Amino acid sequence: MDQGLITNPKDLERMQGELVSLQRRISSLEDDELEVMARLEDAQGDLDRFAAQVAEADERLTALGKSRDARTLEVEEELTRVAADRGPVAESVPEPLLALYERLRVSKGGVAVGALRARECGGCRLSLDPSELAQIRAAAPDEVLRHEECQRILVRTPESGISPALDKQ
Ligand SMILES: [Zn+2]
Repeated sequence: MDQGLITNPKDLERMQGELVSLQRRISSLEDDELEVMARLEDAQGDLDRFAAQVAEADERLTALGKSRDARTLEVEEELTRVAADRGPVAESVPEPLLALYERLRVSKGGVAVGALRARECGGCRLSLDPSELAQIRAAAPDEVLRHEECQRILVRTPESGISPALDKQ
């Protein structure tokens, strides 16, 4: 026993006790480590799932953005076409009528004119009463008519329902 290490049996006992205690501590730390690793794995799984969801949402956002841009372009082209069509037409309309049209367009939610079909105003969808129909029947073809009820400009059509033949029906 002359190794210069432990000569006292009590020291040996104490050291063995410490060794057992250290081994217990190591084992407990290993358990903790396993638990932490398991939690880390779970968290990594969550992270992967969230990352996949974010990537998917990004893809959808990109696709929506593209379709919005395409739609915007279509609408802009349509507006340009409509504006180009409107120009010559608006120029041929007498100034007071155009002013009336613009005023009504603003106050009537964008619909200033109603086509008269089957005795119904296309602007407000209300039927015209017989006396109003009689006035329209008597009016000159180029007279600007207004629907009393909604005040919109009323445009006669072949299906207005004001011809005497239809009256008898
Ligand atoms: Zn009307």
